[in-house]
Amino acid sequence: MTTLVTPMSQTLATKWQLFPQPHKYILIACIVSLSALAFWPSSRPSLEVMQAPTLEETAQASSAETTAELQTEALVVEPLPVQYTIEQGDTLSTIFDQFRISNSTMRAILASDEELLALDVLKPGQQLVFQFSADDFSQTLESMTLIKSPAHKVAYQRVDEKHFSFEEFILDTEWLESVYAGHIEGSFYVSAKRAGLNDDEIVRATHIFQEQINFARDIRAGDRFEVVVGREMVGDTATGSTRIEGVRLHSRGKTISAFLHEDGHFYNHKGESLTPAFLRYPTARQYRISSPFNPRRLHPITGRVSPHNGVDFATPIGTPVLSTGDGIVTRVRNHPFAGIYVEIEHSTTFKTRYLHLNRALVKPGQRVTRGQRIALSGNTGRSTGPHLHFELHVNNRPVNPLKADIPMVSAIDKKALPAFNDRVAMLENLMVNHSTNDG
Ligand SMILES: [Zn+2]
Repeated sequence: MTTLVTPMSQTLATKWQLFPQPHKYILIACIVSLSALAFWPSSRPSLEVMQAPTLEETAQASSAETTAELQTEALVVEPLPVQYTIEQGDTLSTIFDQFRISNSTMRAILASDEELLALDVLKPGQQLVFQFSADDFSQTLESMTLIKSPAHKVAYQRVDEKHFSFEEFILDTEWLESVYAGHIEGSFYVSAKRAGLNDDEIVRATHIFQEQINFARDIRAGDRFEVVVGREMVGDTATGSTRIEGVRLHSRGKTISAFLHEDGHFYNHKGESLTPAFLRYPTARQYRISSPFNPRRLHPITGRVSPHNGVDFATPIGTPVLSTGDGIVTRVRNHPFAGIYVEIEHSTTFKTRYLHLNRALVKPGQRVTRGQRIALSGNTGRSTGPHLHFELHVNNRPVNPLKADIPMVSAIDKKALPAFNDRVAMLENLMVNHSTNDG
């Protein structure tokens, strides 16, 4: 971690920089005079002391020791930072012109910025801090710091006449939460705006739920919502960055929620991904594949192509079979060859089938959720031994369920779940308290 705090010596030096050049000479003269007086023999007549010595006289009068001391002090006093706040329409070129910094210096800085391109787009409100050299009175730029935000700065340091080096500083920040709650009256946009969210935050909040809810169609007047917005802080200073940390929508007796996890993705309060997702396997643990998906399988008896439209898993009889996605049970039947089987329609795109079951635990028309037990595996129909035959159909064509490009479930890792749960509890607590206050 780095710090933006200016050292005390620089602060003093900054004040020094504020003095116009002629004043500096006078000030130096005064210091020299006073120092000289301090070393003046006390026996000297007071009248002489009263006579203000000229600069030359004082310099001559100074002892060798005094001169040495003054030189040391003069090294500490260096001209220091000139700060400039970027305004609309500024470019590095116009700013450098204002400070009479040479084109060659600008080229050298731009060359050093090639890796970062931080200076390519200057935003109003950002600051540039210039450090000019101490040993001459021309505007020789020694260093320049771009303060992009209170948490982010880039320092360019002169290496030699033609080169600058750069160093980027990004500070540790904290997020300060605020809750925006309200009820739907008109559109979600209008209602969220009324609750205090800005356009950008509203867009982000609706985007999180885009797979769960259609904000234009599914929201009803009176539905309630809570949005937790985090503001990035460096100490007491806001960096200007915000993020959505949690959203809850209470609609027609149901609550849908989304919480930001440290991986940058949103999950519901159970830690499940909000993107529509399927389990890859229809069982809680993976079983050996006794026969793979094979559209060109040759039938062992007829010798003709007889596709194997699913994957066979060597599951012992009675193994719980799980629906690999949310959906509706479309078939529960007993077939002379497929045995007892279940078919589930997940959407117009996806369909799954589970064959040779021992027993079905669901009925046609029933709504099921991803991971729900729908059957116990068996050995029914034409089967050479206990196994589960699992099929996945995409747009009514069977595909290899182990390789198909389907939206997979991503749940928060078990190890990270306790921390996620703590965070959800904290955010929900904020939401609840706010809602209570809100009435
Ligand atoms: Zn099979």
